[in-house]
Amino acid sequence: MAEVGQPKVKELPLEELYTSEKHGCDQTGDGTASKPFKTVMTAMLAYEKEPFPQIYVDGKTDEKKFKLIPHAQFINQVKLHREEQQKSQASKVKEQEDAERKEKDLEEAKQVTIIEDKSLPKALKIKVLEGEKHRDERVKVSGWVHRLHRQENTLLRVVLRDGTGYLQAILSDKLCQTYNALMLSPESTVTLYGTISKVSKGKTAPGGHELVCDYWELVGLAPPGGIENVLNQNTDVETKLDNRHLVIRGEKTSKILRIRSYLMQAFRDHFFERGYYEITPPCLVHTQCECECCSALFKVDFFGEQAYLTQSSQLYLETCLPSLGDVFCIAESYRAEQHQTRRHLAEYTHVEAECPFISFDDLLDRLEDLITDVVDKVLKSPAGQLVKDLNPNLVPPKRPFKRMDYSEAIKYLRENEIKKEDDTYYEFGEDIPEMAERRMADKINEPILLCRFPAEMKTFYMQKCRKDKRLTESVDVLMPNVGEIVGGSMRMTDSAELMEAYEVEGVDPSKYYWYTDQRKFGTCPHGGYGLGLERLLMWLCDQHHIRDVCLYPRFLERCSP
Ligand code: ATP
Ligand code: MG
Repeated sequence: MAEVGQPKVKELPLEELYTSEKHGCDQTGDGTASKPFKTVMTAMLAYEKEPFPQIYVDGKTDEKKFKLIPHAQFINQVKLHREEQQKSQASKVKEQEDAERKEKDLEEAKQVTIIEDKSLPKALKIKVLEGEKHRDERVKVSGWVHRLHRQENTLLRVVLRDGTGYLQAILSDKLCQTYNALMLSPESTVTLYGTISKVSKGKTAPGGHELVCDYWELVGLAPPGGIENVLNQNTDVETKLDNRHLVIRGEKTSKILRIRSYLMQAFRDHFFERGYYEITPPCLVHTQCECECCSALFKVDFFGEQAYLTQSSQLYLETCLPSLGDVFCIAESYRAEQHQTRRHLAEYTHVEAECPFISFDDLLDRLEDLITDVVDKVLKSPAGQLVKDLNPNLVPPKRPFKRMDYSEAIKYLRENEIKKEDDTYYEFGEDIPEMAERRMADKINEPILLCRFPAEMKTFYMQKCRKDKRLTESVDVLMPNVGEIVGGSMRMTDSAELMEAYEVEGVDPSKYYWYTDQRKFGTCPHGGYGLGLERLLMWLCDQHHIRDVCLYPRFLERCSP
């Protein structure tokens, strides 16, 4: 009988078998005149056994759709069919033999046992990263089988992964003949015992060495084929997102997560070295206003009361200035706008800082210092090489950054023919949307401090420019390929001005009493900013999509795993 998935004739015996190079199909045909096969060979294979019935091929005219196959062609096809059948017979036999041999090998393997040789020195437990330090000593390393290569029954080459790095290991003789060795699959967990030695000249391995095993233990077996069965080159985006917990085991994603960890540390080191205190502001907040931005907040039922997930910790940071001086936080911010862009998330890591007694120029200087120093720290850290792997063309930003006023940006867009969708130019007072902003940032191709936005485009608490009250002392940092990564400003110092701003915005000041109090109980010039960690990571790791730099990204219709 034809096997599942192979073409079949409609019913046996069929008295006539139809084929058509013009209209037939080898996948969906069944040999009838209405559903002919495409090729004679497929028709014969589907029919399986000789003698074949009358076989028809394409006729010459439209009236005579089919004609009997010419005799010479028939003889030739029968010959080819016999050869084809012999081949398939032979491969079936081989498959059967292979399966039997495997079965037998597994049965035999059950008899092979390995035990640790107690006369050897006690193995020291190490992480992969410590391998070089412990070369030529007996060690044991635990981890996940990242890759696996079997050489017959004599050698098993494993690349072990433990989060600190990759280690090549060699299991030979009995070590690779046990039942567990034959069953071993990628992603299984193992503990390997042996001695790490430098690989001989001309050979390569991670770290330049390999673990020659003298014993090993299986900790947990993974399904055959490891995660290849779930994720491979053809996997679609949704499946990858559903299996993000497996995706993060991959080399690229684990590199990004490692860089992310070093980047967070670089931010903390930067701030601590400069005398900032870290605070941990609340995530659950009461809204202070009924303004437009509140529609961008996620609602939470807080013991029967309406609360929200914070979209910025800035206001809380400001309240800490009189207590702690310069302060920062690295916390999650939440945005409920239904963005579907490559740089917006519903939950992101927000690096925010506030500083008392600074000027707008000081703020810009601090931003330059922050970004150059943090990038420098990461590049000098163990993650530096990972960044170079992912982004070999990275140009670390240099001070001073290009400083550009919003009004100049409007001019720049006009001069460079960057227009709105309706083919008109952006005018002063209009928001520069993501696409235009990014085209400008890409064209300039270096970090930009985009300054002094019109007041009506920005939040109510921003300090107005002394020289032109239409403008604010505000700044966005733009990076090539990403666009805005920072939004910052000086904050209003005068309580009367703030009260006026509440009114213009339609905000109930009574709910803001604690924020207003900052201006009453000893006001001061101050400013700060918020930086999107993922946006900076996109730039640093040269990643097109913000989702790829998060552990478990949250965005429209995606809240799991
Ligand atoms: P955008 O104009 O890109 O939507 P925004 O001006 O609304 O951003 P801010 O309120 O200024 O953003 O937030 C400060 C920083 O936080 C931004 O510069 C950006 O780096 C980051 N950020 C803001 N919204 C998001 C988001 N939805 N996903 C990821 N990062 C964000
Ligand atoms: Mg902004």
